[in-house]
Amino acid sequence: MAEQFDVVVIGAGPAGYHAAIRAAQLGMKVACIDAALGKDGKPALGGTCLRVGCIPSKALLDSSRQFWNMGHIFGDHGISFKDAKIDVEAMIGRKDKIVKQFTGGIAMLFKANKVTAYYGFATLHADRLVKVKQHDGSEVELTGTNVIIAAGSDSIELPFAKFDGETIVDNVGALDFTEVPKRLAVIGAGVIGLELGSVWKRLGAEVVILEALPDFLAAADAEASKTALKEFKKQGLDIRLGAKVSKAEVTGKGKKKEVVLSFADKDGEQTITVDKLLVAVGRKAASKGLLAEGSGVKLTDRGQIEVDAHCHTGVDGVWAIGDCVRGPMLAHKGFEEGVAVAELIAGLPGHVNFDTIPWVIYTEPEIAWVGKTEQQLKDEGIPYKAGSFPFAANGRAVAMSEPAGFVKVLAHAETDRVLGMHLVGANVSELVHEGVLTMEFSGSADDLARICHAHPSLSEVIHDAAMAVEKRAIHKAN
Ligand code: FAD
Ligand code: NAD
Repeated sequence: MAEQFDVVVIGAGPAGYHAAIRAAQLGMKVACIDAALGKDGKPALGGTCLRVGCIPSKALLDSSRQFWNMGHIFGDHGISFKDAKIDVEAMIGRKDKIVKQFTGGIAMLFKANKVTAYYGFATLHADRLVKVKQHDGSEVELTGTNVIIAAGSDSIELPFAKFDGETIVDNVGALDFTEVPKRLAVIGAGVIGLELGSVWKRLGAEVVILEALPDFLAAADAEASKTALKEFKKQGLDIRLGAKVSKAEVTGKGKKKEVVLSFADKDGEQTITVDKLLVAVGRKAASKGLLAEGSGVKLTDRGQIEVDAHCHTGVDGVWAIGDCVRGPMLAHKGFEEGVAVAELIAGLPGHVNFDTIPWVIYTEPEIAWVGKTEQQLKDEGIPYKAGSFPFAANGRAVAMSEPAGFVKVLAHAETDRVLGMHLVGANVSELVHEGVLTMEFSGSADDLARICHAHPSLSEVIHDAAMAVEKRAIHKAN
């Protein structure tokens, strides 16, 4: 006999655990199932984000940033030292401890909120019956008045560069190298390629990034991409645009394994030999084995679970959220969808505003944006004004030896309403939320310009950029 729940959630990543906890807060009887195991072979909740995504990558970005700063910024402050060394095992150990703390934290939150966790692989059948194959081989059956699918995503594999977990890796392997590779190639200059490429570059690897498209970070504002690319090149990241990789051949044995990569770019056919290859060409919805015949849930032609604007699949009581559905593959987009669906199930208004979802790339400098780019505004024929201001003219940024980048505010030419904010620079992962808040409250560039910002602070760059929209920035010639 299947156990009956108000809500059964498949997947305990950012989307799933938010949905489960919010539904439980609203008084529902909730089960949440997750198949993932941690590095120690034990069940680990939290999804890609906590195990092999957002959190571990930020842990390594921070360790490698400290190391890089020793060689590149400490000298400015008059600090010298001898023989800086990186202990990769200790760095990975620190990252693993953080991951354990946070994945364990989700288990505690489930207990505190009385969410019943099941550890195993779930398949959705007709009539919201969910069969769970547990790790010990046993099977349990659950039914939900509502089922929320939050199965997440997996790395896309290239047919000629199959992951072997050692020499050709995805994010999982690149977060766990046991030593700094002498030469690392990355296929894909997207978010993962840039973040994890930066980690190993800062620790001493020679890093070449091969990007198929002719434009760098095509989704970002063109001026932001251009500024970031210049900074990355200064750091020694070798980014080749318009590079079509056709072959990746592993040669040698044991520690002598190498990958010979063949690619073509504007300079013609080339080969390079590296010690490790990271393939980071995007992610695809994780739907393998998830839907039994008769579940009624449909996939789109991109393999994502089909949903409407409210994350409903069209099958009575079945919803889907997070990376396995349309929209950006971001943890915070999944958080919001999880909460919104739990609230919709409870009869409350639940909604996610896709227009104000911030993007952050945690490189050095960081890149962040919210809303429309200049290119989008032009394409959509929306009249706009732009104001920008460089970090190089901001006292706090210069005092921190972080002068790179700028903030640009885009506002409607007639109403002055903020339509987008684009930032490259130190701590812009935090600063972008001034743009998010302004846009959520339908604020104008003038509102931002008239709000008192503490001095000296990096946030003054936003203040000056907003003032520059009407050519009245104080700290630069307009
Ligand atoms: P997931 O986190 O993928 O979780 C889905 C869970 O469902 C998994 O635990 C999986 O085991 C489980 N599951 C799947 N199918 C089944 C099944 N049939 N039965 C049982 N369990 C199942 N996003 C950001 O916003 N900021 C970042 O800084 C960031 N950094 C990232 C860095 C890396 C290296 C990567 C790879 C991703 C990063 N992301 C980041 C993206 C972010 O991790 C995802 O957008 C987010 O994890 C998606 O959440 P989700 O809940 O939809 O899916
Ligand atoms: P991505 O979509 O960001 O970048 C993939 C890149 O690979 C693109 O530039 C694409 O043009 C390129 N590419 C595709 N096929 C190629 C090929 N055959 N040869 C060369 N280049 C090729 O994907 P990702 O970096 O794998 O990351 C996946 C997703 O994870 C991201 O879209 C993002 O949603 C999420 N993520 C977010 C963060 C963050 O928020 N800071 C960090 C990491 C990952």
